[in-house]
Amino acid sequence: MRNEEFDIIVVGAGVAGGVFAASQPSSTRILVVERDLTEPDRIIGELMQPGGLQALKELGLIHLIDGIDAQEVNGYNLIKGNDRFTIHYDEVQKGIRGVGLRNGKFLSNIRRELKKLDNITVVEANVNEFIEENGKIVGIRYTENGVSVAQKANLTIVCDGPMSTLRDKLSKVNKQVSSYFMGLVIKDLKLEHPSYGHMIVSGDSPILVYPIHTDAYRILIDYPGGKPPKMGAKSMETFKENVIKVLPPEMIDAFLKAMEEGDLKVMPNHSMKGQAFRKSGAALLGDSLNMRHPLTGGGMTASFTDIICLNRELAKINLKDEAQLEHAVNEYYENRGKGVETINILANALYKVFSDEDLKEACFEYLQKGGEQASGPLSILAGLNKSKKFLLKHFFKVAMQHPIHFITKPGKQIRLYKNALGIIRPILKDEETPAII
Ligand SMILES: Cc1cc2nc3c(=O)[nH]c(=O)nc-3n(C[C@H](O)[C@H](O)[C@H](O)COP(=O)(O)OP(=O)(O)OC[C@H]3O[C@@H](n4cnc5c(N)ncnc54)[C@H](O)[C@@H]3O)c2cc1C
Repeated sequence: MRNEEFDIIVVGAGVAGGVFAASQPSSTRILVVERDLTEPDRIIGELMQPGGLQALKELGLIHLIDGIDAQEVNGYNLIKGNDRFTIHYDEVQKGIRGVGLRNGKFLSNIRRELKKLDNITVVEANVNEFIEENGKIVGIRYTENGVSVAQKANLTIVCDGPMSTLRDKLSKVNKQVSSYFMGLVIKDLKLEHPSYGHMIVSGDSPILVYPIHTDAYRILIDYPGGKPPKMGAKSMETFKENVIKVLPPEMIDAFLKAMEEGDLKVMPNHSMKGQAFRKSGAALLGDSLNMRHPLTGGGMTASFTDIICLNRELAKINLKDEAQLEHAVNEYYENRGKGVETINILANALYKVFSDEDLKEACFEYLQKGGEQASGPLSILAGLNKSKKFLLKHFFKVAMQHPIHFITKPGKQIRLYKNALGIIRPILKDEETPAII
């Protein structure tokens, strides 16, 4: 045991754990245990939606995106074959922006902030397990420089990310991999809309391109299915050929150059509904609790929205009062859904829509109409509009935008509608499962 007392232990100084710890009142003594404090080079968490920025601002931490050459993102450029159009965040709300950044640089900023704060102690160590007493979690055991350390606290917040090893004690784990993202940094791109996210839906699965620092873009290429892509030389050749077939011409040279430089990274794209157990003394936050397809870049926005919800509950209580603490954690689990359900539903539904040729066509056509048809769905994607009803209205309008087709092309139209229902029903059911079991 360290010779100090802590109110809260945070496991993992990633996007969720780091921001949660930094947003606590200065009177709360916090121990953050992170297994690797070196700056990571990851392909995840690089496009922050306007809703994420707004939440970061509300948490008093917007400065965490300063000084890392983060790039303004003003909306999306949608590309399907020779067809393309842009949709602008400005049309949702004047002046709002997203940002593209390097996840590692953002994490380094977060961790520097933690080290600056007097109420926070940061330790580089691997957390192995919880300490449990009478069915309650009262702390953790971690290994620091080969030595096992036991540490107790009133509350343990588990933010050990998508591959969490601690979540199964706190929740029903129902993780699914729907696809993989293969990511590269591409440079020397000359784009008509440099400060936009590009969503390329010309092929069987989507490709994303967005700026992450000056003159550099992240490209994420979706590889569908639950099995990771083969990385052998022959498979890579086929992969390259397939990407070139669907990539807009202005991106091909830069993509090929990046492939030659050879720093292709692969990450699984999980979805997992958040279903916590009733357990005293600990709570899950971030990807350890809930995940959605990263196509819409909603993960960080969801994490920050959860932090606001959790902080609201913690602010009402005395952390030393066990009953109050348990109530606060349960309220957080019960209430968080309202803040993140539209982000989750849109992410998982849009990925499936883009995997169905007819629905993809219908969706592209709908957004291309502009006005409310573009700004409505974009307000959900931006993480600003949290109305499930509004999301469903647009979802069904995509499938029903030509009612006349029920007469002129009944077979195709009925199939379109059925496929839309087949996508949305299980996703809604997932979101409606009880938050605590
Ligand atoms: C391919 C891909 C692309 C994505 N792109 C975006 C995007 O553009 N925009 C967006 O908003 N979201 C995106 N996401 C989602 C986003 O990255 C996550 O939602 C976000 O990173 C979750 O933060 P977290 O803190 O839960 O996990 P992480 O940021 O992964 O942090 C977990 C931390 O816990 C530490 N840790 C793990 N186990 C232990 C242990 N036993 N002991 C101590 N420390 C431990 C890890 O080292 C790590 O630092 C993407 C996801 C994927 C898969």
